[in-house]
Formats: sequence, C-alpha cells, structure tokens
Amino acid sequence: MSLLVDYDSQNIFAKILSGAIPSAKVYEDDRTFAFMDAFPQSKGHTLVIPKADACNLFDIAPGDLQTLIVQTQRVARAVRDALSPDGVRIMQFNGEAAGQTVYHIHFHILPMWDDQPLARHAGGMADINELNALAAQIRAKL
Ligand code: 5GP
Repeated sequence: MSLLVDYDSQNIFAKILSGAIPSAKVYEDDRTFAFMDAFPQSKGHTLVIPKADACNLFDIAPGDLQTLIVQTQRVARAVRDALSPDGVRIMQFNGEAAGQTVYHIHFHILPMWDDQPLARHAGGMADINELNALAAQIRAKL
C-alpha cells in the first residue's frame, strides 16, 4: 500500500475508538486513547492513538502529533513504573513495507527484558483477562 493513503473510517482502531470493538483500555481523554495490544510482542505491549483521524506520520496534524507523543511519554512512564522492564522500545510504522498493518497512527510501547526475546509482530492473541489486568496495573501508575 502507498504511503499516500486516504483515512479509512472503518479501520480497526477507529472501531476501537467508537466502542464497536472492545479493548483493554489504559487511558482516555478528549484527544488520546491508550490500550493493550491484542497480539503483544512482550508483556505490557501498549498502543497510544489520537482520536483525530490520521493514517500515519505523514498526514497527522502537527498539534495532534505533539499531543500524541507527549501522551506516549506519559503512558510509557506508567508502563515502566508498573512492570519494571530493563528497557522500553517505542515504535511507529509508516506503510506496509515498514510493517504498518493498521492505518490509524499509533505509537507502540514495548517493555523489554534482558532475557526475553520479543514475540513476532502481530502474532498470537492474548487472553483478554490478562490484558485487562495489565491495563489496570499500568493505569494505577498514571
Ligand atoms: P502496526 O503493524 O500497524 O504498527 O501495528 C498494529 C498493531 O495493532 C499490531 O501490533 C497488532 O497486534 C495490533 N492489533 C491488531 N488488531 C488489533 C485489535 O483488534 N485489538 C488490539 N488491541 N490490537 C490490535
């Protein structure tokens, strides 16, 4: 898929924002939503998205991007404080060739531990109860 894509209001994250698809919510305000990745690459893999429509880095408005990255920092701090990983990787993909699969911009927050390899991207689905428990742990640190 090209990097110049039109926003699809039926994409998975738009449906999560509207409540049509359930998610393990970590945080929400009028501009931002954070939730657990359903196919986590590590324990605590969290996604942060804007409520504004944008496919990726190339079409998001600068003000929305500023809010998004500041909120990503805030949620990443909570992930760090909740799970005490050895490191935290922040990822953001643009275009199919770069690994983007959902065309609503998002930052991945990936807690990492020295002795634990990452699972494959968008691999196995996690148990929703485990995701809700992790979301509560992270939310408690916000
Ligand atoms: P991308 O590949 O676009 O950077 O990342 C999309 C992410 O969304 C992947 O890590 C994938 O596991 C996650 N994902 C895909 N479908 C769903 C879903 O229905 N619910 C949640 N919570 N995450 C999803």
